[in-house]
Amino acid sequence: MRCEDVQLELARDEVAPALRQAVASHVLECPACKSVQLAYDGIDETLRRAPMWEPPRGFARMVAAGASEAMPSERLTDRLPMESLLQAATGSLLIGTAGYLGAQLLDLLAPMLAALTAPTPSVMWMWVAFSYAIAAWFARPARA
Ligand SMILES: [Zn+2]
Repeated sequence: MRCEDVQLELARDEVAPALRQAVASHVLECPACKSVQLAYDGIDETLRRAPMWEPPRGFARMVAAGASEAMPSERLTDRLPMESLLQAATGSLLIGTAGYLGAQLLDLLAPMLAALTAPTPSVMWMWVAFSYAIAAWFARPARA
């Protein structure tokens, strides 16, 4: 057997029964595959020893009870149709107003944006400095 095939078999939870003997004899003679098998054995042993969290009895029932308490009891279909319609109209009006104001703000800022994106050396150096500032912010040491 080739080492790649043996190591593929070793990576499985269980070696295929038909290949078990061939894999075992290869591992006995091949130091590379032996070290792979030892690494997998170490991982298995570590996982076996790791503490596993087991939910207490009735955990699912407690979660379900907590979720039903957190859910609003009033359903949308329980409301009057007129109330839902009014809420939808108000939401649409708010979204439309926000869009209009956003477009107006963009019109106001357009000359400033044009100045900030002009391909002049001073503007380019400003963006370089801005990029370095952002990079420095991302690379800052993490606080404990
Ligand atoms: Zn091998």
